[in-house]
Amino acid sequence: MKFSPVALFFLFFSTLVFTGCKSDDSDEAINDPTAENKKSLGTSAEDILSDDIYKSMTVELVYSLGFEPEEQTKNMLTQFLNARVNKPGGVIVKETVINPPQGAPFDIDEIKEIEENNRTAYTAEDDLAVYVFFSNGNSSKDTETRVTLGTAYLNTSIVLYKKTFLDLVANNQGTDLATLETTTLEHEFGHILSLVNITDDDIHPENHEDTANSRHCVVENCLMYFEATNTERATVTRFLQSRGNVPELDPLCIADLQAKGGK
Ligand SMILES: [Zn+2]
Ligand SMILES: [Zn+2]
Repeated sequence: MKFSPVALFFLFFSTLVFTGCKSDDSDEAINDPTAENKKSLGTSAEDILSDDIYKSMTVELVYSLGFEPEEQTKNMLTQFLNARVNKPGGVIVKETVINPPQGAPFDIDEIKEIEENNRTAYTAEDDLAVYVFFSNGNSSKDTETRVTLGTAYLNTSIVLYKKTFLDLVANNQGTDLATLETTTLEHEFGHILSLVNITDDDIHPENHEDTANSRHCVVENCLMYFEATNTERATVTRFLQSRGNVPELDPLCIADLQAKGGK
């Protein structure tokens, strides 16, 4: 299975959109119980948002000791999802502790391999599963001045570079770890929900898709805003200090989610 990144090495937040052969196109996928979780980014937005097929959702948080999610992150994620998705059976958070993967920093193929080796929750029957890895290593794309905080790389797969959050907080007094982590997680979840216009079917993308920073929102205080000035490590701190809290989705992004069965 080979994916080629087409776009978006972004600045403050990160998202890679992959195209290419999907495993569900191949014969072997028919017998693969994980096939439903190996589709391209954004394609499961409707399944996650509506209750047409899936009545509940399991979010599996995978981490090694020392890189676990903050309590506030878990609480805020649950609130964020319950406010937007129709899941009468509820949103269930499952935590899986693993041995620390070796070989950091990680490129996206290694991140996929870690998922392959450690993910335990897959979409089955009427429960849809999403995987989030809290990485014990940085992204291999990081440089002296640029960092990748997280990436949504498949229809139900997210990596958050927890090691990078910890480094940033250690080096920048006043940066709130939980706010940084929650903002990144909810932003990447937004991409899983196909924001902005990832599958080219949002209702009025011309009103808010940022043409200069595609797949992001032009509304400056929106969760899905692509902060072009947040290229550098130092600006992550400035961003957090200037906002102080996790940005919310603006009405245009919410309308896109509602058009796909969300609340
Ligand atoms: Zn993004
Ligand atoms: Zn928006």
